[in-house]
Amino acid sequence: MRIALISDVHANIVALEAVVAAAGSVDAFWHTGDIVGYGPEPDAVVERLAGLGAIGVRGNHDAAAVGSETVEYFNVDARRAIEWTAGVISGATRAWLAGLPETRVEDDLTLVHGSPRAPIWEYITTTALARAGFDALSTRNGIFGHTHIPLAYRLVGGTVQAVAPRDGSVLRLDDAPVLLNPGSVGQPRDGDPDASFAILDIDAGVVTWRRVPYDVAATQAAMRAVSLPPRLVERIAHGR
Ligand code: ZN
Repeated sequence: MRIALISDVHANIVALEAVVAAAGSVDAFWHTGDIVGYGPEPDAVVERLAGLGAIGVRGNHDAAAVGSETVEYFNVDARRAIEWTAGVISGATRAWLAGLPETRVEDDLTLVHGSPRAPIWEYITTTALARAGFDALSTRNGIFGHTHIPLAYRLVGGTVQAVAPRDGSVLRLDDAPVLLNPGSVGQPRDGDPDASFAILDIDAGVVTWRRVPYDVAATQAAMRAVSLPPRLVERIAHGR
């Protein structure tokens, strides 16, 4: 079974289509939230993911877009984007987002947006926070997003090791528990604007990270057309 792992699509349909094409033949799409927010096409992204039968969890932007989390912790641009999103999404999009759970368990994997102990808001940015994440997991492995940076943490003999994958990097799943971040589809923040995702081959026990270019200018034009904040338009060209 081959599964495409995606996160932080952020209403960027052009990036999502590039990822779907690059993923090729897969058995499932699993996501770790922030389907909407920042980007210009929330309905198109949700419709596409629903059509693919994607399963996953809610992110802080998804929760804010449907009014189940406050926008008080958002910076001014993120807040403007989420208020725009909340005002334009269809009833079907709203219902799909509202139906996403905070945590989802698939076999020996837990899916969360932020972290296993605080699924909506906590960023796993250090090995100490990853360690706390491992302690809170009820499964061997976890998949997370929220930081928009592709990364893997491995728990080896009580010590957490961080691995920064590149396009084509492969991680073999062995006895060491892992916390995996596939990176962001729609707004990468590791200095590389290409859409990031990963392929999990469950039978082979292997995760492969991928980067795929997409038409950034097309997404920027769509963002300008609906007057999303200029800083958000600019940043996706730089992967920041
Ligand atoms: Zn996000």
